[in-house]
Amino acid sequence: MDRILKVRKEYDQIVIYRHVNPDLDAFGSQLGMYWTLKTLFPQKNIVLAGEMESDLLRLFPPFETDQLIKGSTLGVVLDTANRERIDGDITICDKILKIDHHIVVDSYGDINIEDVHASSCSEIVALLMKEGRVQMPVNAAASLYLGIIGDSNRFLYSSTSQKTFEAAAYLLDAGIHIDELYQALYMRNKRDLEVTRFIYNNYHEDGEIAWYYLSTEDLKTLQITRSQGSNYVNTLANYKEFKIWMAITQNDLENNYRVSIRSRDVAINEIANEFRGGGHAFASGATLVSLDELKMLVGKLKEKLNG
Ligand code: AMP
Repeated sequence: MDRILKVRKEYDQIVIYRHVNPDLDAFGSQLGMYWTLKTLFPQKNIVLAGEMESDLLRLFPPFETDQLIKGSTLGVVLDTANRERIDGDITICDKILKIDHHIVVDSYGDINIEDVHASSCSEIVALLMKEGRVQMPVNAAASLYLGIIGDSNRFLYSSTSQKTFEAAAYLLDAGIHIDELYQALYMRNKRDLEVTRFIYNNYHEDGEIAWYYLSTEDLKTLQITRSQGSNYVNTLANYKEFKIWMAITQNDLENNYRVSIRSRDVAINEIANEFRGGGHAFASGATLVSLDELKMLVGKLKEKLNG
């Protein structure tokens, strides 16, 4: 980074961005970058952009972001395919470095490091640091490891490659304790059991597609937020009869319905794109303006499965 961007000489601060509705990879790559840059450039102002309140953050080492200052600014945007999904204002930056693993739809950076074959953005960051022979701080390594296991579903998805394990090995070398990370990540409580019971009792199916729907009222009864409601999408994974499964949650704030779509082996991201979304071949998100649109979405997915 220093060689290409002349960070040390040219910038007073670095602002690190990621996408809205952050998941483990968004936070993992953002915080991994944050801890690494803090170590590499201790004299610089390093700012975390975007909403930093989320249930997921309890899994990460505690952090304190610097406050924005006036001055020359480098923006590093992680895990974000297009500029509309960036959580924060990048117009304050003099230069943008984009690092991402989604399909390339918008190379908004001055420098774009885009690898659609990487399991996660965190994997790309870890391997960049490895290549640069960076002494990885343990907090950065833990964050990046969480990002990798989040997006690869603990090395389960086909996006997992030799490079993913290479990145993981490098992070383990930095001294992380994966047993502690896994325990924090997979420990559940009775509320999870209640939500899972609701999903098993109320899921819908149409051919090889299954989904569950959580209305605002359901979310209230189950005492979970809308985004927590989406996170149970894989409750419907791994059933032979279903090749595509979805979580649909009512979004009162935006007056629409958020859809998380997952697929075993048929690419669904182009269809997600048609419904105001996008993402990866087998894991995408979309938005419906009304529940009537659900029929259309299911129809298109069925066509894709048959086609
Ligand atoms: P989600 O179901 O929200 O977890 O999203 C699954 C994947 O699709 C994540 O990697 C998201 O970053 C990506 N994704 C979700 N919504 C969009 C969108 N509107 N545009 C591009 N990518 C998206």
